[in-house]
Amino acid sequence: MDQWEAQRTELHAVSVEMYRRGLVGAYSGNASLRLEGSGAEGLLLITPTQKPWYRLVPQDLVVMNLDGEPLDDGPAPSSETALHLEIHRKRRDVAAVVHSHSIYASAAAVAGREIPPIVDEMIFAIGGGVPIGDYAFPGTEELAQTACRTMGEGNAVLLRNHGVVGVGSGIWEALEVCDLVERVARIFVLSQSFGPGGANPLPPDIIEIEKQVFKMQRRVSVEIDPQG
Ligand SMILES: [Zn+2]
Repeated sequence: MDQWEAQRTELHAVSVEMYRRGLVGAYSGNASLRLEGSGAEGLLLITPTQKPWYRLVPQDLVVMNLDGEPLDDGPAPSSETALHLEIHRKRRDVAAVVHSHSIYASAAAVAGREIPPIVDEMIFAIGGGVPIGDYAFPGTEELAQTACRTMGEGNAVLLRNHGVVGVGSGIWEALEVCDLVERVARIFVLSQSFGPGGANPLPPDIIEIEKQVFKMQRRVSVEIDPQG
């Protein structure tokens, strides 16, 4: 039996769900999960490249170290491996990364628009608005660094002319962050149909209070589960 069978099952379930919800096309997007347990120090499980989500099986997922070296000769890892490695190296509070290509969020990314903090739940789950960095070519170290730097201590970032990255203390949390970014992007687009000023940010003092709640929740979850 595979040592990482439970984690493979979980990451596979999230990958299928990401496709089922329409957050990615058959061949786009990717996800990774930091492995825990004995012998897991510095190891990741990541989705493979060139495999449609509807054909993915748990054994297709790739175990690699934080230098990006797969542990066996199985399928090749995601073409966005550099992005995942950079976030897992820099953000020790993050256990999982999901990268999606959902439609409304990608539309904002194409328009070069960050998503401002317009609804309460995005502050609690993401830590504020969803920022956007400079354009970088897919799969490059430049994209990895730009995304990680632009995301800062928040839980989501838009990749210009490309898509979304969401992170979390678990793989389902990272998926829900990407799902929330898509729903908020829809609200952002639709609110502007009411005319100029339609997309009103939350009051600044409320944003500050909610950011404090976000930071407190993170501190509690890291203290309870230092691995996660
Ligand atoms: Zn992508």
